[in-house]
Amino acid sequence: DLSVERARPETAVEALNRVFGYDSFRGEQQEIIDHVVGGGDALVLMPTGGGKSLCYQIPALVRDGVGVVISPLIALMQDQVDALRALGVRAGFLNSTQASDERRMVEAEFLAGELDLLYLAPERLRVEATTRLLERGRISLFAIDEAHCVAQWGHDFRPDYLALSALHERWPDVPRIALTATATEATHQEIAARLKLGDARHFVASFDRPNIQYRIVSKDDPKRQLLALLRAEHPGDAGIVYCLSRASVEKTAAFLVANGVEALPYHAGLDASVRARNQSRFLREDGLVMVATIAFGMGIDKPDVRFVAHLDLPKSVEGYYQETGRAGRDGQPSTAWLAYGLQDVVQQRKMIDTSEGDEAHRRRLAAHLDAMLALCETVDCRRVRLLEYFGQKGEPCGNCDTCLTPPEAWDGTVPAQKLLSTVVRLKRERNQKFGAGQIIDILLGKKTAKVIQFDHDGLSVFGIGSELREAEWRGAVRQLLAQGLLAVEGDYGTLVLTEGSAEVLAGQRQVPLRREPERKAAPRASGGS
Ligand code: ADP
Ligand code: ZN
Repeated sequence: DLSVERARPETAVEALNRVFGYDSFRGEQQEIIDHVVGGGDALVLMPTGGGKSLCYQIPALVRDGVGVVISPLIALMQDQVDALRALGVRAGFLNSTQASDERRMVEAEFLAGELDLLYLAPERLRVEATTRLLERGRISLFAIDEAHCVAQWGHDFRPDYLALSALHERWPDVPRIALTATATEATHQEIAARLKLGDARHFVASFDRPNIQYRIVSKDDPKRQLLALLRAEHPGDAGIVYCLSRASVEKTAAFLVANGVEALPYHAGLDASVRARNQSRFLREDGLVMVATIAFGMGIDKPDVRFVAHLDLPKSVEGYYQETGRAGRDGQPSTAWLAYGLQDVVQQRKMIDTSEGDEAHRRRLAAHLDAMLALCETVDCRRVRLLEYFGQKGEPCGNCDTCLTPPEAWDGTVPAQKLLSTVVRLKRERNQKFGAGQIIDILLGKKTAKVIQFDHDGLSVFGIGSELREAEWRGAVRQLLAQGLLAVEGDYGTLVLTEGSAEVLAGQRQVPLRREPERKAAPRASGGS
């Protein structure tokens, strides 16, 4: 009964024990909470599952007034508020999905000081009525959740977040805490600058998720590869499968269902009610597989997601980290599995070339993609490379595919020269550009219809590449792309040279390549944590 006066917890520990029922703080929670309770601003970088919510919920309970939480996760607000109310926390939310009488009720509770926490969608703050409402109440703190949404450099930019810098000007004495589970150094700095968090203390937790096993395989028949993974290692487990397009979400979900895996689709093209139903089934039932576009998952708190599979290449390492981070919040062994192929690179380059926005924006997208490719093609520990991307150090982990089945590095300079000189010849002698498929057919000396049509069997480079198998050549092309020694452009993914290519052709640069190990299912790390 909300009308009953409840005893406000005096201290953070009391709130932790009595309201949330936990014994002790995790990681830096206590320091963060003390800092905010004391009125300081904070910027918190902590991986998914690290326990960010308590960092603002407890200060909101301990301090006088209402804690205002800005969150883009409109679809989850009802759930979050219900969960808090079940603990006896007086929480409410305001967003565009609400009926107006419901909104008026929450506003009245806010003004009467009968709320501990008020969740607000960022677009609400553009409405003058909302800021007027906030000015009439008593605010204990502002929490800015998913703070990376303010960063244009990041992968999840939301223009409404830019307006949040005004909070500081209108309420200079109210502490602000910004939180995110993703931040490279660049994003981190951008969040601080854009939210005017100049005086904030930064709390940066380790981004390592030791229970997640990272694996990246080359894509050949992705749906079957996925099915094999699920059958061999994750029968009956809950998991998320990410696809780039709505169509492939539908197809993959149908394929899994046809093969006896309980799978549900989720993408922005589905009716809102279907999306909501599928999301809530995924959260409440055991062992469902959600096949989704990246529209799904932010803020989803399901502890026992045992695997996250990507059937298409994520657009950035930040996105990859965040999506894979939804696996294993409970700390139990989990798999992050990605299948990627040359076609992904071609397709994404094309999307970048045709994307809206200025040249700087396209360069940013290209840099994101390059970093993702480098992660895919590394011969080093995936975890070390991931942590490096976030400016953190790690040791080879023993729990990723490159640690478990080290790829062999070999000197690929000669094959690289053959490949690049084929590209050069077509350009110089014929003024032609072709995609990887045709170049590889030429190298292998295959007389396909297209080779004959273009007289490519008459080129001096025809058949000079028989030392590698087709799959190895495709791997070589991917790696040259990842190393910036080759580029793709245009609608057909034609291969073109880069500045680096010239050095390889001139023999001034070695090209280390990784040999694709024959990958069966990598052994799982056993034991929980
Ligand atoms: P994040 O927002 O960082 O992804 P959450 O705040 O959702 O993480 O917390 C992840 C899970 O850990 C939640 O189920 C939460 O209740 C639990 N949790 C957080 N802090 C503690 C703690 N100090 N002790 C026990 N469980 C905690
Ligand atoms: Zn490793």
